[in-house]
Formats: sequence, structure tokens, C-alpha cells
Amino acid sequence: MRIKVLGCYGGQLRGYALSSFLVNESILLDAGCPTRALTLEEQRHIHHLFVSHVHLDHIQDIAFLADNRALKRMGEDVKRTISIHTLQENIDIIKEHFLNDLIWPDFTVIPTVDDPILIMQPVTPYESIVVDGIKVTSIPVAHPVPCTAFMLEDNGCQFIYSADTGVTDELWRVANEQANLKGIIIDCSFPNAYEKLAHISGHLTPHLMAQEVKKLNAYGEVPIYLYHMKPETMELMIQQIEAERIPNLHLLDQTVEILVGEA
Ligand SMILES: [Zn+2]
Ligand SMILES: [Zn+2]
Repeated sequence: MRIKVLGCYGGQLRGYALSSFLVNESILLDAGCPTRALTLEEQRHIHHLFVSHVHLDHIQDIAFLADNRALKRMGEDVKRTISIHTLQENIDIIKEHFLNDLIWPDFTVIPTVDDPILIMQPVTPYESIVVDGIKVTSIPVAHPVPCTAFMLEDNGCQFIYSADTGVTDELWRVANEQANLKGIIIDCSFPNAYEKLAHISGHLTPHLMAQEVKKLNAYGEVPIYLYHMKPETMELMIQQIEAERIPNLHLLDQTVEILVGEA
């Protein structure tokens, strides 16, 4: 399994794209930036999108991903559907407030009800589904709106994407149950001075993150990847992250590809 970082920041700025990860060729985790990171051809291979929660930085590109898929190309029989996997409450919010024919067309009934661009598929926490050979399990995390981490499993290897989260025990409990955990992407959004804001908004600072990752039994062995840094604070964040001296820690950027187990 290959995980390609398309965007990994908690803010959008030139050179810094919002969160989105491409798993192999056809699965996306969150939709902060895929239409800016991928060619039309690459976008055509995407058939599954796992949405952790409905904050705009994780869903905005659903609009343009769907729009880019809408026109059937002449003479080509292309499978157009993208299945969106997320909590039922997130589906309800997206349909009422986003793809509501006001902010953006409802691509769950376009071009027709029987052959839509987007299909909404509710996930149930802790239940696994298999898409394109990857087993995906959602795990509730600590954020002001309903939000789930996603655990990916392939060839007996597990990998966890925390999505946006503050202090949580549940994620680490599940992580510690895995026999062959190969890595975890974890929230690290604000500098240490913003700890109060981090608690209110369900995020982590370098100091809070450092306490969180020590809940991992295999601390030091399992690679930790940080994401969701606020771009305007990167310099200070890097200093504070380095000061925590966490082994096997990696700061994600938009050039990173993570190979999990065998490719
Ligand atoms: Zn969020
Ligand atoms: Zn976010």
C-alpha cells in the first residue's frame, strides 16, 4: 500500500495545501486539495473518498472532484462514480449545507438518480469495509464535530490516519491492539502557546502531541507522521517539535510518499 501526501496543512497558502492523502490509485482520505494536486487522468482513477469530518478544509474539493467528473467524455465508457464513505451525520450535513443545489449542485442525483457522480455510503465506527483491496476501519476521535480516524489494512499491515483530533485515548487503544502497525499520521496544528485553543478546537500542539504519542506501546518503533500544521507558524512549530525529541518522528510535506508493507 502506498500513501501519497497531496496536502497536509491546516491552512491554505501558496505552497501549502489542505489535507488530502491518496492511497494507491483509487482511494482518497479527505478532500482538501485533490483537484489541485492531481491531473484529470489521475482524478479519474479515484473511486472512493473517506471523509473524516465536514470541516471545509477536508471537504472543499468534493465540489470540484465531482464537477471534473461530470462531463462524460466522447467515446469513452468511464466509470464515473465516487463513493463517499463517512458517518451518517456527516452525509446529512453535506447534503443539507454543501451539495444542496445552492452552494453547489447535488451530485448525488447528477446526471441522474440511477447513475450519479457521487454515492454516499455511511460508515459505522469500528466496522471495517474493504475497498479496492484495502480494509478501512473508522475510529471516533476528539473534535468539536463528529470525526473519525481511519485505519487502513493491507497484507497484514496496519496504518492509521488520525484526522483532526485533540487529546484522545481511543485512538491509541486501537493502535495498541494492532499486531503490525506500520505508522500513524497525527494532528499537530498549533504552537504550544495556543494550547487552550487546541483544547477548544480539538487539535494538538507539539507539546500535547508529544504526550499523546507516548500512549503508543511501540513508541519509538512505529513511525509518527505529523500533519495539519498551520502554515503561518511553521518555523516556530518545527523548533517546538524538534525540542520534544521524539524518536522516529517525521514532519509531512507535499513530497512525501509512504510505503506501507509491500508495495
Ligand atoms: Zn476539523
Ligand atoms: Zn482540518
